Amino acid sequence: MQAVILCGGLGTRLKELTKETPKPMLPVAGKPLLQHTIEHLKRHGITKVTLCAGYKAEVVKEFFSGDFGIPVEVIAEDTPLGTAGALKNVQNLDDTFLLLYGDVFIDVNITALVENHEKHSPLATILTGPSTHPWDSDLIEAKENIITKFVHGLDVPRENIGNKSVYVLNKNILTYTPEGKADLITDVFPKAVEKETLRIYHTDEFVRDMGTPERFAIVEQYLKNKAEDKAPGPITCVFLDRDGVLNKHVGYVDKLEQLEILSGVPEAIQLFHEHNIQTIVITNQPVLARGMCTEQTLQKIHEKLKKETGVETIHYCPHHPETQWGEGVKELRRGCDCRKPRPGLIYRAKEKHNLQLKNCVMIGDTERDVQAGKNAGIRTIAIGTDKNGADALYPNLLEAAKSITQ
Ligand SMILES: [Mg+2]
Ligand SMILES: [Zn+2]
Repeated sequence: MQAVILCGGLGTRLKELTKETPKPMLPVAGKPLLQHTIEHLKRHGITKVTLCAGYKAEVVKEFFSGDFGIPVEVIAEDTPLGTAGALKNVQNLDDTFLLLYGDVFIDVNITALVENHEKHSPLATILTGPSTHPWDSDLIEAKENIITKFVHGLDVPRENIGNKSVYVLNKNILTYTPEGKADLITDVFPKAVEKETLRIYHTDEFVRDMGTPERFAIVEQYLKNKAEDKAPGPITCVFLDRDGVLNKHVGYVDKLEQLEILSGVPEAIQLFHEHNIQTIVITNQPVLARGMCTEQTLQKIHEKLKKETGVETIHYCPHHPETQWGEGVKELRRGCDCRKPRPGLIYRAKEKHNLQLKNCVMIGDTERDVQAGKNAGIRTIAIGTDKNGADALYPNLLEAAKSITQ
């Protein structure tokens, strides 16, 4: 399959950095962002790459005149054509192709995305995921994965389905593209969705728009952790989800008496400690953002949790991004990098306790937990009956502890 990558953006938020170098060519962990992307696509069976370059196209052309083990064609735009206009400018487009942006870092299972597209063969399959800043992002409304509307922002209660700017498209999308400068999101998709089937492929995998210098730092850390994990060692620390792993899942726990420790949990924690394995709880606590419970009450709940299970440390995310329209505590109602499936709490624990992530494992009962572990590049264990893509599945924490410590 062909991949088209749009590289025309000016990178205005990066200022001096992009004076000489277009944004997709800025280095991340020692090589251009675009090279990371092309290598990733090659690993997922993409057979040729077309780069639509605009600003500083000659820099892109020069770099990719080398051998990257996959044909790379560079098309230079004389005048900015917009995302859809650039696409129309590509002469040799395959019937179905992948479309990405050169300034977005992806660690997505492209194979699965393409398979999903081929299974349903809509006009477009759009990769979506929760947005960290939904109130000023391009969002999508969908019913059973079929897109009903393209919207912006979260000013009214709606699901946080963010457009991650990775598409599998049928060439017929071009029939909805007007002449001249045109944008996919504002000019093309809203028209196409009235007549055709467009689908979402919703995932929590790692996608970062590299708009600001901080984003570069996050991606570099992500790559570093992944590289460290290449040779996993014996487990020295377990990250434990709270609800459904340590205590009974009863929806939101906002009162002390709702905390009911699951059977076998104290024994499991003891087993970990006997084998010098640290225990760190990593938990989303949107009860704080929602104003259902104070920090003080949560502290009490966690003191009880420590006392009754023996766990050593608890890190929690107090935020929630989907409470923009009023409820709860204003300063906590926002996106963040610590709410699972984001890996922020794992990174925080790593720094604070000086851990080596290759010796850690994330244990949880939901896909969100497994994905948080994967997003941090570490091993994962699922608890319960659903493996959720984890490396291993155990019915409860004690069985997992026995297996890890045997
Ligand atoms: Mg849970
Ligand atoms: Zn958070």
